[in-house]
Parts: sequence; C-alpha cells; structure tokens
Amino acid sequence: MNLFARIWETAKGLALGHATTWLEYFKPEITVRYPEEKPEYVTGTRGIPALKWNYDKGDLNCTGCGLCARACPISVIEVRQPVGPDGRHLQKPEVFYLDFSRCMVCNLCVEACPFDALEMADMVDLSQYTQGDLVFDKQQLANIWVDSHARRVALGDKL
Ligand code: SF4
Ligand code: SF4
Repeated sequence: MNLFARIWETAKGLALGHATTWLEYFKPEITVRYPEEKPEYVTGTRGIPALKWNYDKGDLNCTGCGLCARACPISVIEVRQPVGPDGRHLQKPEVFYLDFSRCMVCNLCVEACPFDALEMADMVDLSQYTQGDLVFDKQQLANIWVDSHARRVALGDKL
C-alpha cells in the first residue's frame, strides 16, 4: 500500500469512528445517573418481600403462622405470634423480622403464604451502611408494601 492509500484508509477510519460517536451522542439516554436519579422500575420488578396492608381491615393480612419462615431456604424471616390470656397463640404477628441483607428474592416465602399476606415489592434500592439496617420489622415491611402498591397502581400494574 502506497503512502496516499494509507493516509486515505486512516482518514476513512477516523471519519467512521467520529460518525459513530456523534450518532450515539444524539440517541436518547437509556441510563440514569444513579443514585442521584432513580431508575423507573418496570412492571413485575421483584424486590424485597413486603407485608401487605389490608385497607378494608385496617390491618395486616398476616396471621403470624410462620409458614413463610419455614419456606425460606436461608432462614431470614423470624415470626412469632403473641400468646393470649388463655395460653393460646393469637392469629397475628407479634414480631416479624426479615433480614434483606441475605434475601435471595426467590419468592418462596410469598408462594408459601396461605393468607395472601406477602408480596415482592418493587423496592430493590435499599442499600444501607450496616447489615443490621437491612433487618426490617413488620411496620417497615408494611410501609414498603404501601409505597410499592401505590406506585404499581399509578403505573396501572395488574395487582
Ligand atoms: S424471597 Fe426467598 S430468601 Fe427472601 S425471604 Fe423470601 S424465601 Fe427467603
Ligand atoms: S406472611 Fe403469610 S406465611 Fe408468613 S407468617 Fe404471615 S400469614 Fe403466615
């Protein structure tokens, strides 16, 4: 290849490279500047398992039966029912903790619940400075579900 042919090939390569860069520059952005900007979660995003709030009852659907805890393959759920004056367990959760730092978002707890009390919320952005801050109690899990539910309703999600 003579000198002029080499110059021509180099110039052509440069022009093509620049053209590609400029074409990309004018395409719409598909990324966001996380964490300053939050991504919009799509329908069906599977985040933390959260406790459903029953608006008709004004309470959780959860009875504290513990089946979700038994179904969890890595034991990150702790549930306990309160004991009534007659020594029998009451059908509600006295404590409900979920350690999201180890949760695999596998959905097995949701499938195991016979009372439609758990749902995978759309919330995945729950990073914290300590592992302990990723242990959520029943009130926090209910709040997460309420927020997630509102977003899904706003998006017209099939609930
Ligand atoms: S999603 Fe899976 S890992 Fe997470 S709490 Fe439920 S059963 Fe356990
Ligand atoms: S979430 Fe469902 S399975 Fe788990 S304790 Fe409550 S009612 Fe039972």
